[in-house]
Amino acid sequence: MEFNCRKCGQKFDLYDIELCPECQKELVEICSEVYKLQPEKIRKIDQFGMKLDSILSQSAYISESFHGNAAAFFGGYDGVGLLSKFFGQRQVVLFELDTRVLSWWQHIGKEYDFEVLTYQYDALQSVPDEFINSGKDDKIDCWRTDPPFNCSGMLCFLNRILYLNTNGAPIYLVIPYGPKWARLLKHNIFQLLRDNKIRIIGVSSDKYEYLDKDAPDSFIYKMKASPPILGNSNFPFEIKGATYDFSESPFGCHQYSRCKKWRDEWDNEIQKEKFFNKGSNERCK
Ligand SMILES: [Zn+2]
Repeated sequence: MEFNCRKCGQKFDLYDIELCPECQKELVEICSEVYKLQPEKIRKIDQFGMKLDSILSQSAYISESFHGNAAAFFGGYDGVGLLSKFFGQRQVVLFELDTRVLSWWQHIGKEYDFEVLTYQYDALQSVPDEFINSGKDDKIDCWRTDPPFNCSGMLCFLNRILYLNTNGAPIYLVIPYGPKWARLLKHNIFQLLRDNKIRIIGVSSDKYEYLDKDAPDSFIYKMKASPPILGNSNFPFEIKGATYDFSESPFGCHQYSRCKKWRDEWDNEIQKEKFFNKGSNERCK
């Protein structure tokens, strides 16, 4: 089946990634330079590396919403967003807690001659006014986030984007799939979206894979913006994992013990696998 490359537009035979072989080759070369400078991951703030094919595939997928203006990213450790310029974006905007990641993006912007606007931000805190005011002149075409994979983490990140997204641009939200706890999480997130009248208007055909086994595979969903679910207050819940408090809150699923049990089972399985199979963590498949 013939398909138009999402980067250059030429026709080619599609397999997984929606990029022609020439564009793939070009981006792989760029990534080999860009990712040399990626900071070491800090797992306690949920930093995971993504496989190279997934970075290319996801970058290509979200580029359908690029119109040559800015693309905004909420969390930047995986570096998805750094390829935006090569899909025609003038500017990337990054909201991120880790100053090492902010510097990495700024450095790459200088190196490859594109504008990077960064905001150091802890998503647990309310959004400062100046973020809204200073970002206003920049036309943001779309938002993307790969949030912490639990209900409160996903709600927190999504809510911040809904608040910051003053021009109603589409939002791309990564949602995991696979293990039982991730399926439960997906059901709960879909329920949350339905309850708040957030419409899903697209989903990636390719799935995304991470370098570490303790991140399940994921898809990215495109959604139409809505008003923020929680307004702009400090976020009162833990976002590093499932908690009883969140589960019993009005936004929770009230299935804490099941969720916790399934998550613990998965964690134990992964630990066992790691112990018996000390495999490499190569970026390339
Ligand atoms: Zn191409």
